[in-house]
Amino acid sequence: MLSDQLIALEHDVIMQTYKRIPVVVESTSGCRITDVNGVTYLDMLSGIAVNALGYSHPRILEAIAVQSHKYLHLSNLFYQEPQIRLAQSLTRRTGYSKVVYSNSGAESWDAAVKLARMHGHLHGKNGDIIGFTGGFHGRTYGALSTMDKPLYKEGMGPFLPSTAILPFNDAAALRDAVNEHTCAVGLEFIQGEGGIRSVSREFVGALMELRDRFGFVVIADEVQTGVGRTGDFFAYETFGITPDIVTMAKGIGGGLPLGAMLVSDALSTAWKQGQHGSTYGGNALACATGLVVMEELEHGLLDHVRSISAYLHASLGTLRASYPDYVLEIRGRGLMAGVVVNEESTPLRDALLARRVITSATASNVIRIVPPFIITEADVDECVHALRNAIEERIAVTSSSIAV
Ligand code: PLP
Repeated sequence: MLSDQLIALEHDVIMQTYKRIPVVVESTSGCRITDVNGVTYLDMLSGIAVNALGYSHPRILEAIAVQSHKYLHLSNLFYQEPQIRLAQSLTRRTGYSKVVYSNSGAESWDAAVKLARMHGHLHGKNGDIIGFTGGFHGRTYGALSTMDKPLYKEGMGPFLPSTAILPFNDAAALRDAVNEHTCAVGLEFIQGEGGIRSVSREFVGALMELRDRFGFVVIADEVQTGVGRTGDFFAYETFGITPDIVTMAKGIGGGLPLGAMLVSDALSTAWKQGQHGSTYGGNALACATGLVVMEELEHGLLDHVRSISAYLHASLGTLRASYPDYVLEIRGRGLMAGVVVNEESTPLRDALLARRVITSATASNVIRIVPPFIITEADVDECVHALRNAIEERIAVTSSSIAV
């Protein structure tokens, strides 16, 4: 009853821009969400790839308690130790020269586009920026201008000039498009919203060769893939390359809103004081929890991601082998998996929810699995068991509708 009333109130007072999961959350712990009716779900979505340490992690709660007694917000007019320590940890871990903080993935992306253009301006370029089909970088104009999803753009133009969107993984199209005016090429190394699609080695090879020839900046959007989700700290690492700018958010805040852009040495002086900023960017509380995430990764959590994700992918592979006509492909790396099915994936997502497992449906026929890093083999077994039952239900439903 309470949940019905709250859902009705939500419709009354909140603009309807989200299609929500019909669950009103009461409490959370670890990898579990409990609703106001006392029903508990296994969370294989982690707040859309955010809650790396799961819910109510004792070290996150402690960091919040300690920092909140010192200060919550000061503004970037002050020196703040959590910000500085987290930047030290990020630069040491990644080899990047400098950090620019924000509050979200979209803001980090916009900052990257601005910085790339400034760098281009300083090098006599006219500011052309290239993105790719299926990419997702957020909902700001900088992000939307480098993406192609019609629903997110229709009626909201005009977008940034001098931007182009090329077919993902098409090295020939990239070769045709870039020249000495190209200022930046930006991409996700594994597209999240685009359906857990990995960039190909051939494409990355062409990208880096063209970068060296034309001197543009490569921007890696690691907002979803970053902070260890793929089993590497960043998804690009597996290609043995180093982008010029990396955007981060989601996992780095440990559940609090935090974004960051990592900048290579060559770009680290492109902005003068005052040319970029944010009131909240690098908020002290979010940086304090970010430090906990970094420490946990270094103290065994990244190793756990590698071993538990091998177990997850082996289990999903077995599932695919059982239902080869329904499960077309298993995509992704680490704790970022996509189950590609032979129908629109929303009914399967709903069948999983009915079995108390939370996932999301993306790119029309993909179930996205991006669980907290702390999941166990028992959690994976529970998820795959529910998937098996849900798939059997969908096969029964679709074959009976064909029979009719
Ligand atoms: N980039 C990627 C790859 C994302 O997955 C997202 C969000 O899902 C964003 C950028 C935008 O992040 P935010 O919603 O924090 O603005």
